[in-house]
Amino acid sequence: MSSFSITPTLLASLLLIACGSSNGQAPKAPAMSTNDMSQYDHSGNPHYSHTDTAKLNVPLSEWKKLLPADLYYIAFEKGTERAFTGKYWDFEGIGTYACAVCGNVLFQADSKFASSCGWPSFFQAARKDAIHYHEDRTYGMVRTETTCGRCGAHLGHIFDDGPKPTGQRYCINSVSLEFIGK
Ligand SMILES: [Zn+2]
Repeated sequence: MSSFSITPTLLASLLLIACGSSNGQAPKAPAMSTNDMSQYDHSGNPHYSHTDTAKLNVPLSEWKKLLPADLYYIAFEKGTERAFTGKYWDFEGIGTYACAVCGNVLFQADSKFASSCGWPSFFQAARKDAIHYHEDRTYGMVRTETTCGRCGAHLGHIFDDGPKPTGQRYCINSVSLEFIGK
């Protein structure tokens, strides 16, 4: 037994980290045009591309200069945004989702599904090598971390409680994504 006691605040944090299902319902945002749904200006980022799949090896010091602080924190300090706060958790636009750091196409919108966890959830990656997977043993849990296959940015985690046909649930920070409307 551990001497560690679970306080309600700690318990809430652990549940948040686990990205588990919750019945909490947040108010639905008004419908927006898909043109309003990109989050960042990438014009100053020379590595950003939706077509170049060559692996990047950019030093963290350079990413720190190029990226907004919240994106750098999630992508390279493995942060997690608060549930129900991101731009895309309940967004249903038609198009694709790219890595907000490098533009690598990660998911097609038709693999996104409504999940009550508060983060954008997908059941399938856009292509086999779009995303890389790593064992994550932080916070006393064994999870699988997902990173961008091109730039290495932290995206979120993958769980095996998703819907058919894959049974997988990619639980991804909105901050890490850029939506490209059709
Ligand atoms: Zn990337």
